[in-house]
Amino acid sequence: MPVIAIDGPSGAGKSSVSKGIALRGGWGYLDTGALYRGLTWLSLQEGVTSPEEVAKLVQIGKLNFNLDASAPKLTAKYPLEQQGITDLSEVIREELITNVVSGISAIPQVRAELLLLQRELIQKSINEFGGAVVEGRDIGTTVWPDAELKIYLTADVEARAIRRQAQLSELSEISAVSVADSLAKRDAIDSMRAASPLKQSEDQIVLDATYLNLEETIHALWNLIEERTVNG
Ligand code: C5P
Repeated sequence: MPVIAIDGPSGAGKSSVSKGIALRGGWGYLDTGALYRGLTWLSLQEGVTSPEEVAKLVQIGKLNFNLDASAPKLTAKYPLEQQGITDLSEVIREELITNVVSGISAIPQVRAELLLLQRELIQKSINEFGGAVVEGRDIGTTVWPDAELKIYLTADVEARAIRRQAQLSELSEISAVSVADSLAKRDAIDSMRAASPLKQSEDQIVLDATYLNLEETIHALWNLIEERTVNG
């Protein structure tokens, strides 16, 4: 299965499910949201705001994602004037980044630049691992429209907020209501932007994980992969 595209709203469990499927199939794993988050982090560090300058940071900062599903990692050349590569995997999860990333990802120049990087990384994953499980918002619609399997992974906003709150609770005392509020806001920006918005398409299979735990969701998706492999 060369490319499996997993799109859907924030907090539906895309990362855990995608990683689990990639490990099971021996494929590479690409978290495209991490690229948008990394670029947001770089632009905040550098105080860069113009669309062109932010987009340029993709190359200047050498954004990269380690595709090995057992050790996924977002890295960049930082500080920019030095040669060292820095692991950004943790800092990109900070609340500040979560709050501003959707604004950065609505910029067409940013999407155009990251489109190239995403396609490069997917091709690299196919070459090295024989396939890629790619999660994001517009993978099946824009980034890799020829994906062999396209999934729209979703869940009710309450269920998504409860899961997200459980992940965050070690870090802060944030309530489920404010998590739901922040998810809904991000979904609204991601769905309403003009450039490559989050939207369901007819060739996607909708997987609603409201009442499924992680294991059950991976199981359901694995069944779809097997069906697809048998039926072509
Ligand atoms: O998946 P995650 O929540 O980490 O993504 C962070 C943000 O990156 C999303 O809210 C969205 O604004 C942006 N994104 C995007 N297109 C993608 C993946 C992520 O616009 N393919």
